[in-house]
Amino acid sequence: MDVADIPSMLVANEFEYYGERRVHLFRTYDMDLPNGFLNFRFHNCGRADNCFIWEVARATSAAPQYFKSIKIDEKNYDDGGFGWNNPAEIALDEVNMKEKYERSKRPGDSCASEFPLEVLISIGTGKTKTRAQRAQTRWPRLTAPNMVRKILWHVDNGMKFITDVERVDGRVEKALDEKSKQYFRWDGPEEVGRLKLDEWKPARRSRLSTKNFIEEEINRYLKQKDNEERLRRCAKALVELRRGRAEDEERWRRFTECTYYACTACSSVQSFSLPRELRAHICGQHQQGVSNIEEEIQKGETYPKVAGGPW
Ligand SMILES: [Zn+2]
Repeated sequence: MDVADIPSMLVANEFEYYGERRVHLFRTYDMDLPNGFLNFRFHNCGRADNCFIWEVARATSAAPQYFKSIKIDEKNYDDGGFGWNNPAEIALDEVNMKEKYERSKRPGDSCASEFPLEVLISIGTGKTKTRAQRAQTRWPRLTAPNMVRKILWHVDNGMKFITDVERVDGRVEKALDEKSKQYFRWDGPEEVGRLKLDEWKPARRSRLSTKNFIEEEINRYLKQKDNEERLRRCAKALVELRRGRAEDEERWRRFTECTYYACTACSSVQSFSLPRELRAHICGQHQQGVSNIEEEIQKGETYPKVAGGPW
């Protein structure tokens, strides 16, 4: 599987100036959910996004007051962090909704599960201030009315997102815990979270450059006992999953290449997740009509329109 085939999704904000901000998911795969499957988060369903990678990069990195927002197809976008600083919950919803939809299309799919995620990894960019600390923050005095309005609006949105990081973390942990699945989150060191968005200082006398400072703080953070221990547990969980899949080659193929198998001997289309299921079906239903079962399985091998992922 090519890296380009791995389904990817990036979160940005779609907005109108001083108007409502909505989450927008840029996807490399189709998400053509019918009405019955939609929930409030999925307002932009449909075909995979057709814009350039640099446009998506601009959209998701455009931080108000630092980097300009971008217009793609007549819509404005900026950083998803401003509203969705911990998009783990969106990823969770996205995978579950897609799986539910695929299951409804192919009810016999033995590889589909009610809750397809096994491990969810979320990486932050440094712990932010607590609510009490934020309350003491003084905002600069400004005179130009438009500027004030603009900044207040961003502050309002910013406040919402900072508290959301903590809440989202708790909700995602609970959701995965209930299904006995694992959630790993590293907030990152507070020292890095305190850096200003545009801070980029060169090294001077005893002071490290910002880049080296970040590296040093992150190394220190990862060496802390609980963070290191969580890294070990996470690596172990991933290796176990990988081994479990590799033990069953047919299933591994199904997950990496998304193949499924249609019965070419049936008058109506019948498809199966694994070659062994089609083999059993042919043996049971068409024993007389089929001379070479393996050839029939090869003929029935089908690839999805959009490659990659368990969908
Ligand atoms: Zn058949």
